[in-house]
Amino acid sequence: MSAIFIPIFNRVFLRGFCVVILVAMSITLRATTEKLTILNTADIHGRIEGRHSGLLKLATLIEQERRTAAPDAVLLIDCGDTIEGTFSSWETRGETVINLLNKLRCNVWVPGNHDFDFGVDILARRIQQFDGIVLAANLHSPPLADKVKKWQMFTLGRTKAKIAVIGMACPQMYDPAICGQPTPEVSAIDQALREIIGEVTQSRPDIIVLAMHIGKYASGFNVYSLLADFPEIDLVLCAHSHQQLPGEKVCGAWLVQSGKHAQELGKIVIEFDGQNRRIIRIRSELLPCDAMMEHPTLKAAVEPIMTKVRQLAAERVGRVKFIDADRHSPELLLGTLAADAMRHAAKKQKPDMAVYSSYQRHTKLRPKMTVSRLMLFNWFRFQDRIGVVTFPGNSYEFDNIIKELTSREKRGYYSIFSGKKLSRRNRIKPHEPDKPLTVVFSSYAISGAGNKFPGLRDFSSKPGRTHMLDKRLRDAVADYLRTNPTVKYRK
Ligand SMILES: [Zn+2]
Repeated sequence: MSAIFIPIFNRVFLRGFCVVILVAMSITLRATTEKLTILNTADIHGRIEGRHSGLLKLATLIEQERRTAAPDAVLLIDCGDTIEGTFSSWETRGETVINLLNKLRCNVWVPGNHDFDFGVDILARRIQQFDGIVLAANLHSPPLADKVKKWQMFTLGRTKAKIAVIGMACPQMYDPAICGQPTPEVSAIDQALREIIGEVTQSRPDIIVLAMHIGKYASGFNVYSLLADFPEIDLVLCAHSHQQLPGEKVCGAWLVQSGKHAQELGKIVIEFDGQNRRIIRIRSELLPCDAMMEHPTLKAAVEPIMTKVRQLAAERVGRVKFIDADRHSPELLLGTLAADAMRHAAKKQKPDMAVYSSYQRHTKLRPKMTVSRLMLFNWFRFQDRIGVVTFPGNSYEFDNIIKELTSREKRGYYSIFSGKKLSRRNRIKPHEPDKPLTVVFSSYAISGAGNKFPGLRDFSSKPGRTHMLDKRLRDAVADYLRTNPTVKYRK
């Protein structure tokens, strides 16, 4: 019996011994590995409330995620285009958005190109207001120099994982003249990385995160060659192109882009081995905010300001009469309104004509309308200013610019003219070759309209050719509406 017993005892003992070892190993492993959570937002564009999106719904989701994550093992990173984009964010100049980011305990904000739209002074105030750290290694803007860092080390969780976060602003700051201030200089991402990567790695981070305001497929930017050159980077957070990329391997790094308008929250979980100081694996997903309840406490906190914003939105600006509102598409009628208003606003400069360019619109226009502030904002959403460009007499420069302006129509980008008529062949009529020609444009067009009008950009940027007026396009239209205009599209 004992012969049998002993081996049985031995087997049981051995099995027990193995179990003890395994449990002990898993306890040590559990003690040294942990899940670090990085929450990510991008292109919020001032969305606070809304049916499908907004910071108030996002807040509920973030709170939920924080509750299930390991304590002190969560980092919240916003990748920019945060404060601009809605009527409420315009009226509060982004202040309420930053207040909410602070309530969400956002750690990092990488400013996007549109975060400069209210002007660099307003952005400086928002950065001051932000409780976290603003990162942009490639931004060279003297008024922001002491407020923006290139990178920051964070220590997370009980393994004290060292996470270096490097921020990169948008290298495509295509709207320099919009806020009437000089363009902040933004260098190429690879160049900026080359300058700081040594300093970052010398600080011995366990994980390197690159948070940047540019999309995976942005023109003139190649994320594959960037990451091939910088194998040190473990995680890349993209923005700007409003895409949803739940997570994919690009070279040796993991790349995520968290959509837009606070419609989704990027959740990246890094399994980290604290003993060997290495990443075991990265998993990520985009969590939809749609079904979330708006956060009750935060909703109550912003309600007074939102009530005020709603009152402002309903305020009447003036009346407008659209001739043949049913026969012409809204972009032609709104384009005519804008071009007429721009010419009116620049009347001291005695402009020959004004041109307004925009995409196809899906607004419904009625023959007679009372225009509210919200309506005006939605018709002319960006912070464009107005500039007068002078073309020398006896030159074909303007003919070429007209070609450039009208060549975009096939792709749904319309240019509407006010003032001197164009001939069938798109020449100025009547032709006065010796007289200089003065034309009013929006600052967006003058800055090349996101590379749609490079000829206009190159021409108008030469010294002495462009005179910027201290007037926003939207205000020019509001002034014009006060005189009860009639808008008639002229082919
Ligand atoms: Zn952007």
